[in-house]
Amino acid sequence: MSNQMPPAHPFDDDKLREECGVFGVVGVTDASNFVALGLHALQHRGQEAGGIVTHDTETGFHQARRMGLVRDNFTSADMMAMLPGSIGIGHVRYSTAGSKGQQTAIRDVQPFFGEFSMGGAAIAHNGNITNALALRRELIERGSIFQSSSDTECIIHLMARSMGRTIPDRMEEGLRKVEGAFSIVAMTRTKLIGCRDPLGVRPLVLGRIGEGWALASETCALDIIGAEFVREIEPGEMVVVTEKGVSSHFPFRRAKSRFCIFEHVYFSRPDSILGGRSVYETRENIGRELAKEAPVDADLVCPVPDSGTPAAIGYSLQSGIPYAMGIIRNQYMGRTFIEPSESIRNMGVRLKLNVNRALIKGKRVILVDDSVVRGTTSRKIKEMILDAGAAEVHFRIASPPTAWPCFYGVDTPQREKLLAATMTEDQMREHLGVDSIKFISINGLYRAVGQAKGRDKKNPAYCDACFSGEYPIAPSDMIEQGFKAKTAAE
Ligand code: SF4
Repeated sequence: MSNQMPPAHPFDDDKLREECGVFGVVGVTDASNFVALGLHALQHRGQEAGGIVTHDTETGFHQARRMGLVRDNFTSADMMAMLPGSIGIGHVRYSTAGSKGQQTAIRDVQPFFGEFSMGGAAIAHNGNITNALALRRELIERGSIFQSSSDTECIIHLMARSMGRTIPDRMEEGLRKVEGAFSIVAMTRTKLIGCRDPLGVRPLVLGRIGEGWALASETCALDIIGAEFVREIEPGEMVVVTEKGVSSHFPFRRAKSRFCIFEHVYFSRPDSILGGRSVYETRENIGRELAKEAPVDADLVCPVPDSGTPAAIGYSLQSGIPYAMGIIRNQYMGRTFIEPSESIRNMGVRLKLNVNRALIKGKRVILVDDSVVRGTTSRKIKEMILDAGAAEVHFRIASPPTAWPCFYGVDTPQREKLLAATMTEDQMREHLGVDSIKFISINGLYRAVGQAKGRDKKNPAYCDACFSGEYPIAPSDMIEQGFKAKTAAE
């Protein structure tokens, strides 16, 4: 769902960001309530905008798209009354890429809707189409008129050009022309459709709720509506779900799964289950591996909250060094604070994080964070910790150095802005002004996610391109725009 030009948030511009969450439900009364709750549980996957489409047998399709958080837009009785029906899908998104101002951005808010000869269909997409520019060019040459700057719209136009007899047939035919990462939730008047790209880069799960069914990016969105987790949609699988049941088939050439390993490290919620594994437990394992690989003599292990917390607990358990909440996060300093003045902007990370001085003073502190992207936040946190009187600061990072951009639905800075693309570990230590910095090795990360032998170099089990530079799907649009892929010498 991206158009690949990452905007920066003044308080949180130093993380990779998942760009979307998708959710759908069929066979329930007041589907929009379930969709709103599901999207609320997926809000960490996109906070800038959201949308819901429903269908009611008497009144037809209904749609609402809004900038901002689900809780600010999709909770009032009036709004829910505008979205009647027993089937619905929704989408939360992060990127406003390519959009200047709300008027334009709202065009890019999903789900997208298309009216076909056999009826309407709506589609919500998590991922990124890596040949979207080429497809768009070709479609425009053949007469398509695009309404948004989003890659996802290509799928609607491809469906419109298909000769398939049903909407699922058309979607299948359209998706065969698409390259990249996609986890899609779509709907017709009566059918919920779920589909994952052949490598299954982004997650998608199926749940059962009473007599109905749900599809969601993560299991935490099933939990919130009281749905039972049935299974993951498999890589390359398309499911068509009605009130009567689920039919499944595999329309694409079969390929080995390359699920995004960063979902385990950071994107997914810790209370979700991925690949049969608790995300929380995986993150704790990562912390344990990190403690084995990069021990250091210190007094306290502190997480950079909240995402570093499970790994910090794991590091503490493995090392025996006490865990402490040395940094406190203000839970209310979110993205709703969207247009701060320059003076507030300069306060930066202090608005979001505060050091627990009484704990830190005189201590040798290990700070555990999930990743280092630009390094700007790490530097400010280090300053705050030293200001509070810490004797030493050691960074331990729960992912390998992020040295390559992601083109599969994650907002990443350009390569030259990634600290690890331009500096060695030693240079980073000097640049950040810390006593030491160590990243988990790629083999350590694979062990933590259950691959006992580490990363199989020839046949890795996951996508790890942002660490390795080895892209399982060629980022053809970006190469056309000048992106230089890894050379044999690198
Ligand atoms: S490049 Fe990184 S963030 Fe993107 S899909 Fe692959 S592992 Fe995930």
